[in-house]
Amino acid sequence: MDCLFCKIAAGEIPSKTVYEDAEILAFYDIEPQAPVHVLVIPKEHIPSMDGVTPENSDVVAHIFAKIPKIAASLGLSGGYRVISNCGADAGQTVPHLHFHILGGKPLSLTMA
Ligand code: 5GP
Ligand code: ZN
Repeated sequence: MDCLFCKIAAGEIPSKTVYEDAEILAFYDIEPQAPVHVLVIPKEHIPSMDGVTPENSDVVAHIFAKIPKIAASLGLSGGYRVISNCGADAGQTVPHLHFHILGGKPLSLTMA
């Protein structure tokens, strides 16, 4: 499949790994929007939040169980934000489910 994040998950395209296990990968965003900007993806291809179903939601729960540990490992003791852009209006540019972890400074409250 011609999917950028599937290729990153498979190690075919290099990325700076923050955390990895059999189901998920966390890596630094190539164009950071905050002092710390990490993406967390399921290794399985799910196109977006709209592709989450009862059959595949275990990996999403796993991601959310790991995010606090990943954030702690990144030193985000002051807090952090988790974002998933779904679809065109949200500005999703990579059609493989991913969660942004942003932090490292007080973030703007702008949501739109
Ligand atoms: P989206 O806009 O879909 O919510 O987020 C996609 C994110 O992927 C963007 O923040 C973008 O900087 C990041 N990104 C795009 N291509 C690459 C890449 O090849 N490597 C890494 N590490 N991040 C990427
Ligand atoms: Zn994919």
